[in-house]
Amino acid sequence: MIEDKHKPEIIFRGIPASPGISIGKVFLYVKEIPTAVERIIKPDEVENEIQKLRNAVKKSEKELLKILSFAQQKIGEGKSKILEAQIMILRDQFLLESLEKRIKTELRNAEYIVSDEIGKYEKMMLMAQDDYMHERAHDVDDLKNRIIRNMQQTKLISKFEEAAIVVAHSLTPADTVIFSRNTVLGYATDRGGITSHAAILSRALKIPAVLGLGDISRRVSHGDKIIIDGYSGIVIVNPSLEQQSKYQAKKEKYLQHEAKLVQIKNLPAVTLDNHKIELSANIEFEEEIEYVQMQGSQGVGLFRSESILINKESIPTEEEQYQVYKLFAERIYPNRIIIRTFDVGGDKIAPNTIEEANPFLGWRGIRIFLDHKDLFLEQLRAILRASTRKNIAIMFPMVSTVEEIIKAKEILEIAKSQLKSKKIKFDSNIKIGAMIEVPSAAVTADTIAKEVDFLSIGTNDLTQYLLAVDRGNNVVSGLYQEFHPSVIRTIKYIIDAGHKENKWVGMCGELAGNPLATVLLVGLGLDEFSVIPTILPEIKRIIRSIKYSDAKLLASEVLNLATTDEVLKFLRSYLQKNFKDIIINNNNK
Ligand code: PEP
Ligand code: MG
Repeated sequence: MIEDKHKPEIIFRGIPASPGISIGKVFLYVKEIPTAVERIIKPDEVENEIQKLRNAVKKSEKELLKILSFAQQKIGEGKSKILEAQIMILRDQFLLESLEKRIKTELRNAEYIVSDEIGKYEKMMLMAQDDYMHERAHDVDDLKNRIIRNMQQTKLISKFEEAAIVVAHSLTPADTVIFSRNTVLGYATDRGGITSHAAILSRALKIPAVLGLGDISRRVSHGDKIIIDGYSGIVIVNPSLEQQSKYQAKKEKYLQHEAKLVQIKNLPAVTLDNHKIELSANIEFEEEIEYVQMQGSQGVGLFRSESILINKESIPTEEEQYQVYKLFAERIYPNRIIIRTFDVGGDKIAPNTIEEANPFLGWRGIRIFLDHKDLFLEQLRAILRASTRKNIAIMFPMVSTVEEIIKAKEILEIAKSQLKSKKIKFDSNIKIGAMIEVPSAAVTADTIAKEVDFLSIGTNDLTQYLLAVDRGNNVVSGLYQEFHPSVIRTIKYIIDAGHKENKWVGMCGELAGNPLATVLLVGLGLDEFSVIPTILPEIKRIIRSIKYSDAKLLASEVLNLATTDEVLKFLRSYLQKNFKDIIINNNNK
């Protein structure tokens, strides 16, 4: 390896979207955005323009069908649905008719009308304050550009001879799949987040990816040497020889480590002294189910049902919801899926909700649905109808008082009796749980535990409310400390309160999936961990390598520490001593 003395090393930090380390050369994917110039046409050109539009739509459909069939072979039917959505838009008769009508009445060229009309949808989606919606807007943009490109008869270059790491401004699901026909070693993009479909597909294709890197695509050239670390989110362009050998060693270490993790995939999460933990996954999209199962999860500890509201102007009907919940329950069966009722408001999408000065302290989660009993009943009936296999549990978000649980249970009983009177089957013994993520609920966890079958700790919100730090505000992000003694002591309090009432206590906040916290949480007595699927095998390995008795001792020591720094130092040194190959995320606070 000869070091290029002329190019300085540049380090980027982004979002680790798909795990793995790759070292290779850059394939810079510059997607020329086709420009659609507005042109007034004569009436006798209308037919020609409409024909041009129809041909381009047909060609785009053919291209996408080809990509779809490749995707289905490579990653299976489930995940390929992402691409089907684009094809469905293309086949939407209403859209085509309105495009043709506008060409006729406005006497404008087809390229311009496509750009303007589809661009409107895109703008609407971009206006939503929601990452997922923004990602979908880019999928729509991709479709628009594909049609225009086909009208202009230009082509994208997506083939390369040598194995390479694709660097791009952004990648659509179609790009991600197309590139995987080459030897792609990884993806690094300016834009995109963990929920982008490109991220989900990269994980399914097992290609390391780091997204949200800012302006990387403008700062690299074709053929530059590059390292991407999909565990930590670090990308190094023009790495020194020293960095290259450091990452080569890290990569080998991880590969060996992952090979070991595969061996425990089907084994239970049990400690050396036989203390059993339930290890499940958090999911939002159907496309993730296969991956979750591949990772050896025991079920789903949190299905954020509000994900089905994305892209919708109103809440789906009971029947539509039933179809979704049924599908998830069937695919997860015989394992359990905990469906959390809609948690809208705060920073999340919310059809028909209102503007608030303080949304995180406002109309959010269960509060909205206790006020909208009709909508709540619809969701509860849909969940109940999907529960005939007896593998669904229901969980309520943003609970702040026990009265809310009592009211929710009354509404659940009404939903049950409505179904009974229509002789519709459901699991009459369905289990219900409360999320404990608001300090008032934590302090009264014993009272709440009396009313439910289980508690699930939402540390993402619990941390923000305990420490009075907005979880999405960069200015105060340094104060958002999941390892703060107040958070740890509150977790202990909730677990003890649940156990006193003989109820199991789980955790579905991000802390459950942080390897640094695993031994501590086991020691505090947590019964269930629900984690992001990528980290699941690592958490299982830690659980299987420790003794419950040791974890309890560690927890009692941590409970005596006074500051976040002390806690972190203590846990890091424990882990480094006992798990030399551990992957510790340096972003821990
Ligand atoms: C939490 O608050 O920890 C949680 C799991 O819920 P969400 O992140 O969806 O608010
Ligand atoms: Mg929450």
